[in-house]
Amino acid sequence: TYVIAQPCVDVLDRSCVDECPVDCIYEGDRMLYIQPEECIDCGACEPVCPVEAIYYEDDLPTEFDAYLADNEEFFTQP
Ligand code: SF4
Repeated sequence: TYVIAQPCVDVLDRSCVDECPVDCIYEGDRMLYIQPEECIDCGACEPVCPVEAIYYEDDLPTEFDAYLADNEEFFTQP
């Protein structure tokens, strides 16, 4: 899956939302989140992000590791 990280916080540009063919990018209070089970790994969202907040999970820089868990938490909320 692809993951959205810190650069998105308080930016929420939403260019990625328009690109995603399966509409799996959801809006949180301060950033956008990719639903990992719905993401088809097409990569379309990554280049359109103006702040380069989107990474393939395996390429996520270590300083953004927390965003993987944060993302999971967002989608497991009751
Ligand atoms: Fe959507 Fe493709 Fe980005 Fe996954 S990689 S969030 S399917 S645009």
